[in-house]
Amino acid sequence: MWNKIALLGATGSIGTQTLDVLKKNQMLDKVVLLSAYRNLDALNRISAICPNATLCLMDEHLPLKENVELYSGFEGLVEALEKLKPDLTIVAVSGAAGFKIALESIKNTTRRVCLATKEALVIGGKFVKQELKERGIELLPIDSEHSALFQLLLNENVGSVNKIILTASGGALRDYPLEKFDSVSAKDVLKHPVWNMGRRITVDSATMVNKAFEVIEAHHLFDVEIDKITAMIHREGLIHSMVEFVDGSIKLHVGYPDMRIPISYSIFFPNRMKFDADLHIDFKLLEKLHLEEPSPERYPAFFMVYDLFKMPSSGWIVYNASDEVAVQKFLDGKIKFTDIFKLISKTIERFDHFEPETPEEVVSIDLQARKMAEEEVEKWA
Ligand code: NDP
Ligand code: MG
Repeated sequence: MWNKIALLGATGSIGTQTLDVLKKNQMLDKVVLLSAYRNLDALNRISAICPNATLCLMDEHLPLKENVELYSGFEGLVEALEKLKPDLTIVAVSGAAGFKIALESIKNTTRRVCLATKEALVIGGKFVKQELKERGIELLPIDSEHSALFQLLLNENVGSVNKIILTASGGALRDYPLEKFDSVSAKDVLKHPVWNMGRRITVDSATMVNKAFEVIEAHHLFDVEIDKITAMIHREGLIHSMVEFVDGSIKLHVGYPDMRIPISYSIFFPNRMKFDADLHIDFKLLEKLHLEEPSPERYPAFFMVYDLFKMPSSGWIVYNASDEVAVQKFLDGKIKFTDIFKLISKTIERFDHFEPETPEEVVSIDLQARKMAEEEVEKWA
């Protein structure tokens, strides 16, 4: 099915699970390119099981070991993509850096890009869509909710959609006393109740910033207005999203909460691959499914998404950049959990907003917003 596969962000949580899917389907020999940010040891370990892969390390400030043949930095990645021209690229890089990487992947992939990196759509959705249109290649979402929506909306007219309901776990603090939010530790926040994911996305689940990103992601992927996209907390993690249509019908997607399923779907669509028996759901589990409205007191950073919609899309870039800074500061023990929302709000408020006209402007807004967020935290010290 695929002859040349590029896996970007190979050392991460999605990257590793993608390798698992490829291994189960005896496709590791089809991998022609693997990238990581700075984890050369892990990249080397992975390259041992992908015999035909060229390697790329994205952190250009890293001194490379002698006699190690690999591409380095963003320019190196572009060069490798241009040379190899994969027919399938899986983008699983974390953070805003994923935007330009996704754009280059779309430019240099001949048939399909599978996208896990939601930040690419959050900060530069219109450029990603423009590039897709120009190149005429497919984009399949890996994010579980969007994989569910993709399936629910197959052969449906988008004009018939009344509402999209993204399900959310509510994160590690969904039952934590609100009055103790000020003193919650990074360790507590990193205990996700359903999914085992990278550190940033786990903190973003506790604030539901991740769900706000997913609202924007769904808006771009499916051309549905933001005010038609909502979120509900679903503790069991079995319903991956729902669509309500104008005739009152509601479709929902149910599946075992394992990212290898949406990863596999994105790679093999329109086919489905068989998994281990333990990824099947016991119907008894469906007897009790719960859905709750998220509370604005517990998740103030989520509800900001509807205000962002009313401003130029620099707002979305600043939202992501300031959250990235805030989450890192929180994980480093420099700010409190409740400061994450404070820092995002303050940075959005201070920024002089405008509509970016080029991908370079997106990157420049991202950098400015990070600087602003850093300065703000210094003022608090
Ligand atoms: P991880 O932090 O586990 O992995 C991130 C990967 O990206 C690593 O390979 C890392 O390399 C690489 N990377 C980090 N920074 C850069 C950079 N500046 N330039 C290039 N490469 C970089 O993240 P996840 O796998 O959890 O998430 C990846 C993306 O998928 C995110 O956008 C996330 O929102 C999305 N996603 C994740 C889900 C999950 O279940 N984990 C679910 C849905 C979406 P290195 O190891 O060298 O640092
Ligand atoms: Mg998700």
